[in-house]
Amino acid sequence: MTSFSHRDPSTRGQGMTSQRARDRLVDDLAKNGIRDRRVLDVMRQLPRHLFIDEALASRAYENTALPIGQGQTISQPFVVARMTEALIEAKLPRRVLEIGTGSGYQCAVLAQLVEQVYTVERIDELLRSARRLFRKLGISNVRSRHADGRLGWAEEAPFDAIILTAAGTHLEDALLAQLAPDGCLVAPVGPAGRQQLLRVRADAEGWVHESLGAVSFVPLLGGTG
Ligand code: SAH
Repeated sequence: MTSFSHRDPSTRGQGMTSQRARDRLVDDLAKNGIRDRRVLDVMRQLPRHLFIDEALASRAYENTALPIGQGQTISQPFVVARMTEALIEAKLPRRVLEIGTGSGYQCAVLAQLVEQVYTVERIDELLRSARRLFRKLGISNVRSRHADGRLGWAEEAPFDAIILTAAGTHLEDALLAQLAPDGCLVAPVGPAGRQQLLRVRADAEGWVHESLGAVSFVPLLGGTG
């Protein structure tokens, strides 16, 4: 796995953004039921404070969602860990599609674990700043696109796994169609206040849906911003 700390002093962090702060967060995730060592190790390394506004950096290692501008949020660390764990549990995917790049944090976590990540974001400004961060952190196995992610990324399909970080009212057929036969999709689904985290996999009979609990995500919107 990449070590980020030697690249740039701002990557290392200090005080509230130090390695100790990251360690405490990860210990907390483990205590709250995150078991996958691979996920915990990545989150221990990755400087989440770089993915949010400097004014909020001191809160980067609290287990909470934070605003990233444009009315969007960086997901709560526990939810990032849970979704990542759910996505790689049965089999480590090789190629993953993410819908909703946002700050780029979830994408960066995935990029440390799998061969290639494809990520789609509808707000250009967020995408640009995520791309800058990937470059700064030396993350080179991410391809990103400014588009409506509800349509997936047909040219690159099929994907071994698909993750949505914004909640739709239903699962998009276009996305299910881009999943490899033994693939896995993890997504928040439902209206505000009543969202469930779903994991969808196919068996011989068809799609198998599994609920992983209640969550609260920003909505999956149409078009590009
Ligand atoms: N994975 C992000 C979470 C960001 S919040 C992170 O780790 O920071 C969800 C993101 O989904 C927002 O940036 C929002 O603009 C984006 N989004 C919402 N609807 C979308 C759509 N149809 N296509 C692509 N991105 C979408």
